[in-house]
Amino acid sequence: METLQEKLADPARFLVASELVSVRGSMTEESAIRARDFANQLISSPAIDWISITDNAGGNPQLAPLALGRPILYAGKEVVIHLTCKDLNRNGLESEAWMLSSEGFHNILAMTGDYPVAGLDGLAKPVFDLDSVGLISLLDKMNRGLGPGSGGNGNRPLGKTEFCIGAVTTNFKLREGEVVPQYLKLRKKIECGARFIVNQIGFDARKISELRAWMDAHGLGGTPLIGNVYLLSSRVAQIFHEGRIPGVVVTPALLEICREQSRSADGGRSFFLEFAARQIAVYRGLGFRGVYLGGVHSFRAIEQILAIERSFAPGDWRQFAREIQFSRPGEFFFYASDPATGLADPARETPRPQAPSKHVTALYRISKAAHDSMFVPGTAVAGWGARACAHAKDPMQGPAPLRALEHLTKAALFRCKDCGDCSLPDIAYLCPESQCAKNQRNGPCGGTREGRCEVDGYGDCIWLRAYERLKHDHREQSMLDYAPVVQNQGLRGTSAWANQWLGRDHAAKRQTLPAESPARNPEWQKQ
Ligand code: SF4
Repeated sequence: METLQEKLADPARFLVASELVSVRGSMTEESAIRARDFANQLISSPAIDWISITDNAGGNPQLAPLALGRPILYAGKEVVIHLTCKDLNRNGLESEAWMLSSEGFHNILAMTGDYPVAGLDGLAKPVFDLDSVGLISLLDKMNRGLGPGSGGNGNRPLGKTEFCIGAVTTNFKLREGEVVPQYLKLRKKIECGARFIVNQIGFDARKISELRAWMDAHGLGGTPLIGNVYLLSSRVAQIFHEGRIPGVVVTPALLEICREQSRSADGGRSFFLEFAARQIAVYRGLGFRGVYLGGVHSFRAIEQILAIERSFAPGDWRQFAREIQFSRPGEFFFYASDPATGLADPARETPRPQAPSKHVTALYRISKAAHDSMFVPGTAVAGWGARACAHAKDPMQGPAPLRALEHLTKAALFRCKDCGDCSLPDIAYLCPESQCAKNQRNGPCGGTREGRCEVDGYGDCIWLRAYERLKHDHREQSMLDYAPVVQNQGLRGTSAWANQWLGRDHAAKRQTLPAESPARNPEWQKQ
């Protein structure tokens, strides 16, 4: 059987994937039986290259993707299992990965995951021990073979896994401080081991072409890019419009079209099928390596979409690309629009002028100066701090008065949760433990809505705020130029100051990477 990795390696291929959304209940539930019937039809179709199975999609509890995936895999179809960080800590994720590998599932779509929205007897506790970058790094390390000492396997090196690791990206964002960090995080995911990329659902060909152009311009064009095509209906368009699926946008203009079409004799069915086919044509025309079909629940619909797409003339996609441009007023684009095509012009970046930001505060300036004088190796305070902590009664806490000072100041100024492995300098002095619902330490998740966190009560995303702070200092392009941060939970409740001075935290392992090197320093991947 040809593997997904082999298919992706052939640039002449245009791949078609179908999403299979898991269901709540066991395999005997009616909904599970329907999902299995759909899967059986997908298995028998040579037009479908792989089946992607969701993991508690939308933050709801569902049947584990493995249950639906086994019969598909055993029938000889490639399966991509979605693995997210919301329900399992790093040990659970590693354990899941060993099971997947043992059972022959070698394709994983690694994501941070949606914030839980449901659970039995109340809302589930979100985990987010790792984020998507941490999970990709974990899987990549398993591919290279976990060596002695990597979390308790003694002196015995472990066998290598063969995961084809996928990642997700989204640039369908409104603000510059959302779009640019998404691109930088995409680069980080690829540097950490992602081998193919699927973009988020979106309905703007200019943004789609911009993603392609940005990757090409930043040395990432060799990574296969798969376009997300969602079969809309008026009802789903309304759900997307209301922001009920984090990161997915349906503008008022598109919603109006969907509503209008739904009033036609067939309820808009033929329009929505053709709309999906046109999106496929656009992705194909823009050089994507395939499409990922979502919102489809019958193989008949897939057949119809693919047949419509085959009926288009080779250049039709250019007109479709002009029509499928549903952006929002004031939306940020990295590249200017090419008037000849309506798509991104990679030769012309849009101006990104300095603008006053409420996020560039006095506290930010003071924090930066304090950090530079206290923690940069070689400074007098850093040397004194290291000596004082090393000779303290409890070196994990440091001298009691210093610990009290740390505790008081950081709790008051940053809402510090005392995690002991401090990421304040990574995120322009914003605390991911207290101010990010998903504890994202390697860039933003994809869930922001017009700059705000997808979870109520968190306000502007810390990564947007960090971007604006760093941009003020002309450092925004290097905001993720460091080794992936994997927080050490063993340091919780200990002194982050002592841990930094004595080289126990993630910052001690960090190597700031030269911004001009697209591949960056591969050494940090070995950490
Ligand atoms: S030590 Fe942890 S909890 Fe405290 S400010 Fe730093 S990142 Fe936040």
